[in-house]
This record gives sequence, C-alpha cells and structure tokens, in this order.
Amino acid sequence: MVNIVIFGAPGSGKGTQSDLIIQKYGLHHISTGDILRGEIANKSELGIIAEGFISKGQLVPDELIIRMLAEILDKAPTEKGFIFDGFPRTLEQGEALDKLLKEKGTCILAALNLEVEESELIERILKRGVLSGRKDDNLETAHARLKVYYSQTEPLKDFYKKQGKKINIKGTGNIEDIFERICQSIDRIIK
Ligand code: ADP
Repeated sequence: MVNIVIFGAPGSGKGTQSDLIIQKYGLHHISTGDILRGEIANKSELGIIAEGFISKGQLVPDELIIRMLAEILDKAPTEKGFIFDGFPRTLEQGEALDKLLKEKGTCILAALNLEVEESELIERILKRGVLSGRKDDNLETAHARLKVYYSQTEPLKDFYKKQGKKINIKGTGNIEDIFERICQSIDRIIK
C-alpha cells in the first residue's frame, strides 16, 4: 500500500493537490476537514461538537478525531493506499496513525510538506472564503488557525523527519507545477 500524508499550513493547497494525487495514483482520500464539515452539515453529535472548535480555529480534540479516523480506516478500501489530508495535526495523532496502520500491516511511506509563506496563506484563505463560503475562512479565524498550526502541528515535521519520511515541496507557483513536483517525489518513493 502507498500511504502518504499531505502536510502543510491552512491554505497551503493540501486539498487541491490531494484531488490531483488521487486522480493519478488511485489512492483513497481521507480529509478530516471534509469529513468534519459533512458531520456538521448532517448535524450529527460529532458535528455539533466539532463546529464549536472549527469556528474558533481550534483543533477538534485528539480523542474524538482519532476515534473518527480509526472508524473510517476500518471501513475504507485498502487495495492501493491512502492520502491523509489534514491528519495528523498533532504529535498524538501522528503516533496514533502509525499504530493504526501497523495493525493493518502497513505504514506511512512519505509526508509531503507543502511550503508556502504566511502572507500568501492568508491571501489564499480569504479568497477561498469568498468563493466557497467556508465559515472558518475569515481573517480572524485564519490567524487563529495559523497560530494553532505553528504550535501544535509543526512539531510533526520533526516527527516525520526523524523517520526519514519528510519531503519538502515548494507550494507556490501554479497548481500544475506544484503537482509535477509532488509526482516526482511520489514516483521516486514508489519505484
Ligand atoms: P485547513 O487545513 O485549511 O485548516 P481543514 O479542512 O483541513 O482546513 O480543517 C478545517 C478545520 O477542521 C481545522 O481548523 C480544525 O478545526 C478541524 N480539523 C480538521 N482536521 C483535524 C484534525 N486532524 N485534528 C483536529 N482538528 C481537525
């Protein structure tokens, strides 16, 4: 199985690039943000809890999100592999993911780290807010999300670096060029 984590700050293009990766490599896309937005739309118990955190730009607690991911992994098709988008977001989630995959006899092959500078991240988030109406894509929440990213998610860079799995990808320029860089990395690791 080819299991890849796509990693990066809010607005770094994880979702956009994931869509292209799944088309080309046939991986199963797991986006915790999309799943949570689905739960909110369905007004499920998890959705109602999650909405309170998401609207403030905070992370949904590890315990809830790890349980949600474990259930999804149990139901997901396992022929080809997964692209994990927006998960893990904390060290605890990273460790939980390794454990869950180990139980299935597999592991993460690479963590693609999309690098984009902060001013561009904010610009992209605000633009997406206008286009998609995503409620957390406003200036105040974007700043809160970035703060959370630097304090809680960035330590995962070291986690994957120590495992020899971190691959830095320049996340600026046009979408096709970024995707080309990603493909070169993926092709190298699956060879
Ligand atoms: P972005 O990367 O632009 O912030 P996402 O759709 O990945 O967008 O996430 C939106 C929000 O959903 C996050 O700000 C957070 O509140 C919540 N969320 C998504 N994934 C996780 C996760 N793995 N752990 C905790 N909260 C999460």
